[in-house]
Amino acid sequence: MKNQQGLSLESKCVEEVKDQKTTSAHILPIYATSSFAFDNVEESIDIFSGKKQGHVYSRYANPTIDTVAKKIALLEGHGGPQELTAYLTSSGMSAISTVMMGLLKSGDAILTQANLYGGTTELLLKVLKPLGIDIHFCDLKNLELVAQTLQAKGNIKMIYGETPANPTLACIDLKAIAQLAQSHGAYSVIDNTFCTPYLQRPINFGIDFVIHSTTKFLNGHGNGIAGAIIGRDAELMRSKVWTCLKLAGTNCNPWDAWLINNGIKTLALRMEQHSRNAQALAEYLDNHPRVSKVNYNGLPSHPDHELAKVQMSGFGAMLSFEMADGLAAGKALMNKLRLSTQAPTLGDVHTLVLHPATSSHLNIEKSLREKNGITDGLIRVSVGIENAADIIADFEQALQD
Ligand SMILES: *Cc1c(COP(=O)(O)O)cnc(C)c1O
Repeated sequence: MKNQQGLSLESKCVEEVKDQKTTSAHILPIYATSSFAFDNVEESIDIFSGKKQGHVYSRYANPTIDTVAKKIALLEGHGGPQELTAYLTSSGMSAISTVMMGLLKSGDAILTQANLYGGTTELLLKVLKPLGIDIHFCDLKNLELVAQTLQAKGNIKMIYGETPANPTLACIDLKAIAQLAQSHGAYSVIDNTFCTPYLQRPINFGIDFVIHSTTKFLNGHGNGIAGAIIGRDAELMRSKVWTCLKLAGTNCNPWDAWLINNGIKTLALRMEQHSRNAQALAEYLDNHPRVSKVNYNGLPSHPDHELAKVQMSGFGAMLSFEMADGLAAGKALMNKLRLSTQAPTLGDVHTLVLHPATSSHLNIEKSLREKNGITDGLIRVSVGIENAADIIADFEQALQD
């Protein structure tokens, strides 16, 4: 601490007073600082040139943010052969755009699926395509078609997928997609938001990069927006992804990172309870005469039940279903629910319901969404961690005529 003797009151107001005791915080502190002070010019040169480890500026890196990124890297790499690298971003969308802008250039192409998170489809078509990056949609479950498309279009540099996908819970084969991408010199990227590393770790199946909207299950409490990028190749992560993050300014902030850290402490408990409750609600809805179809990976009737069993250690919180009487019946049901909240998000401790056709997928062409099972009568549920009997009772009363 600088000697404050002799300073005026005004200057003492401005001076930073440092705690001189050596204390160890029990909980990760929030480093709410834009930059980091150097002891002298020599130290500044050493840190800037990379000779000495140290922080410079919070858009580049920050102790709170880096600590939480490291935790997510440890979780995504759990059970795998190597240490992973992770960065936190300002949102799930910024994680996706940073990975794409950092790794691709004009003239390259992305191969992806039509049933993506609505915002991702919009990002591809409204932002990346006008920048000269070609976008090809194909069914990533159809591995022969994927191989043919890779062969036919020589410029595909990235395969981008979601499994299970929003909101029909369609799964893609992680191992096969990773191998196809690798053999054609393309990066494979998976949005692992629905599963979290507690239920699925795509990099252990050979995938190159994972992205998260930590806004959802990793935070878990619906009180912040942030994202994460995780990769196996530390050098590539630093030279391409981090450089883009730093220069596009898509970094996370210490407060949101700290909230994620709190959320992750109960991730295992929450994902177990989410999965148990979703299984119970899916079985209840599946047996209800007014419900014509239930999409849940934990139901043996789901087309990807077997693949989900291989890739996931549980089936998670997300399900969707269709009312036999279509849109009008679906709307009436949503308005009658009391415990469940209508909100355009997912992954909270509360049960959340959403009507994709009029919300998350409103800006996606009707023909494109219907091809992927997002019909007008579909309702998506992010099953919370309340008592399962209370959740089912809420749907039971709402399903009564
Ligand atoms: C919410 C979500 C996103 C976007 O994340 P934001 O944090 O809202 O930017 C991307 N992918 C999936 C699967 C999501 O659910």
